[in-house]
Amino acid sequence: MLKVIIDFDGTLTAEEEQAALLREAMLTTLAEEIIHMPRAQLAADYQATRARLLQNPQQYHWDVNGLIASYCDEGAFILNTTTVQTLLKENESYFQAVTAAFPNPEYDPVIDCVNMLFHRHTAELPLLFRPAAQPVLAELVAHPQRQPIILTNSLGDKVARHLAALGFGDEVAILGDTRQYDMAPDWEQTFVHPTLGDLQIWPVAGQYPIDLRRPAYYKALRQAAADGSQLAVVADTFSLPGAMPLLMGIPFLLTRTTYTPDWCLQAIDAHPLGIVLDDLADLPTALDRLPGG
Ligand SMILES: [Mg+2]
Repeated sequence: MLKVIIDFDGTLTAEEEQAALLREAMLTTLAEEIIHMPRAQLAADYQATRARLLQNPQQYHWDVNGLIASYCDEGAFILNTTTVQTLLKENESYFQAVTAAFPNPEYDPVIDCVNMLFHRHTAELPLLFRPAAQPVLAELVAHPQRQPIILTNSLGDKVARHLAALGFGDEVAILGDTRQYDMAPDWEQTFVHPTLGDLQIWPVAGQYPIDLRRPAYYKALRQAAADGSQLAVVADTFSLPGAMPLLMGIPFLLTRTTYTPDWCLQAIDAHPLGIVLDDLADLPTALDRLPGG
């Protein structure tokens, strides 16, 4: 069996069209419920911060437990997340308000705040699947040797509801809240790069080192393969879902979108198990070409 692990947001959905709606909802909640300030001022600060991030994307990242989980320019949602994180950390009065609102954080007050905003408001987004989502999933379900599994940092119930609207039930399994962003500085697992040897941080060209200290995601992939199945991972972004499978020897297929940066395409192209899909519709054919596919 080949388990085809497919990211949800941005891979099956048109994230570039949802990101503005998500940003507007997050700003409203932040202004009204957390910081208690005029929304227009917060929105202006957000736009100024976002512009600064895009001028130097390699310098701005979603940081978790002091490690880089993703660069800001890898996707539409991650740009939003990183902008909010930077805004809340750099502005002392915003930081104080968030600290007061999240007195017992699981990570830190800013991460917990951003996670709350992301989970709450992505659940409300309208359904905007990519045209190939339904036919590609249907083809995988019908294939006797392939099993689609949806992998997401969003909560599983949101994804289940959306997949039901496409006509899918239990035949499409969901690994929800998988936390590819769960970074652990003390984790000692190393990975073998085809040319660079043992490493924990993959020095991707163009000053984008990708940190692999992600034990939660590693465990999720190991569990998926525990029954002897082969795996392949499909996603629209690189650092969060893609680097780990490649360095575990699992093929990774990156779907090219309007927001995919060149450095991600180049990194995928340079790895023997990396494949760039110009469209999600190309997935079944690309799987046919995998060793043992
Ligand atoms: Mg995604």
